[in-house]
Amino acid sequence: MDLYEHQARELFEEHGIVVPRAEVTDSPRQAREIARRLGGRVVVKAQVRTGGRGKAGGVGLAADPAAAELTARRILGMDIKGHTVGTVMLAQPVDIEEEFYVSYVLDRAAGCFLAIASAEGGMDIEEVAATRPEAVARVPVDPAEGVTSATAARIAEAAGLPPQTVDVLVRLWEVLVREDALLVEVNPLARTRDGRITALDGKVTLDDNATFRQARWGTEHSTHHDPLEAAAAAKGIDYVKLDGEVGIIGNGAGLVMSTLDVVAGRGARPANFLDIGGGASAQVMADGLSVVLSDPSVKSVLVNVFGGITACDAVADGIVRALDTVRLTKPLVVRLDGNNAARGRAVLDAYAHPLVEQATTMDGAAERAARLATTP
Ligand code: GDP
Ligand code: MN
Repeated sequence: MDLYEHQARELFEEHGIVVPRAEVTDSPRQAREIARRLGGRVVVKAQVRTGGRGKAGGVGLAADPAAAELTARRILGMDIKGHTVGTVMLAQPVDIEEEFYVSYVLDRAAGCFLAIASAEGGMDIEEVAATRPEAVARVPVDPAEGVTSATAARIAEAAGLPPQTVDVLVRLWEVLVREDALLVEVNPLARTRDGRITALDGKVTLDDNATFRQARWGTEHSTHHDPLEAAAAAKGIDYVKLDGEVGIIGNGAGLVMSTLDVVAGRGARPANFLDIGGGASAQVMADGLSVVLSDPSVKSVLVNVFGGITACDAVADGIVRALDTVRLTKPLVVRLDGNNAARGRAVLDAYAHPLVEQATTMDGAAERAARLATTP
């Protein structure tokens, strides 16, 4: 999950990195008040979770509170790369002498973190990296060792940053570790006319696996761009949207993954991954089924459950309950095996829905679901 700039700014401040005084609002009238509090002149910045706001017109300098209100009015509601601006941050402007780029990012391939730094910050770092790669230093960071003053000094030297940035580099690493981030980036890290090093923009990506201990950010920012994924997440269901036409529901990530493979082996493409988990209740089954059925590209649905902790009759009850509320318009193939399988099958037999059929093996179920999805 990506944080907004103002949230990143807050974290930086808490860890002793110098940031401009700033406040956030969604109202132009309030923007005027804030500008007055901040001394009149302010930078007005769109709060969207995407970069390149400057180039898109989402960053404006206002000379006085009245101008701040107008600028806020212009930026609020703007569309920046598909993100609608709902709030702006007003910050005290600083006189920039030099702009640097610094970040720490997880390098999964190398199994370590990477410090990326450049004395040519401010603009598009990707562009600098592409045209003048020698201007961008990349220094591996051992996650166990972290960034000590000595490491930070090496990073600064490799990138040609002034010695005053060493302290910021150490603190920025602390942000990454303490806040469970996978990425922390400051661009620009500015040297101001009075010689101070100030973080003027921040990007922080938190590790979603650590959400449970970073409760202050809530879950509203979680990165579900697909509306079906968002709906599933809201119900606490493990769902990933895929490109195919066979809706898949199973229990246990391993079983669901192999169900995807078997369906693909039968010449159809899975429409999703959905794991109702071990010990799934009828309610979870019902919720999962309604998510899969609301996907318009789904042509058939395959429910593949091996009952261990999960009892197959509870799964069958869930299917029946779901079909009482969601009108089934697509064929549903169900394979129940394991704990209480016979009872589960009996529940579905008794329900006798014309679009529900049962299969006894995973292979047979996959073949049937694939055929139903691919024959017009
Ligand atoms: P981004 O375009 O989304 O990366 O947004 P930034 O927050 O990095 O702002 C873009 C540019 O606006 C920066 O590179 C700076 O050159 C400029 N900028 C931001 N804050 C200030 C400020 O306080 N004073 C001055 N002079 N320029 C600023
Ligand atoms: Mn920036």
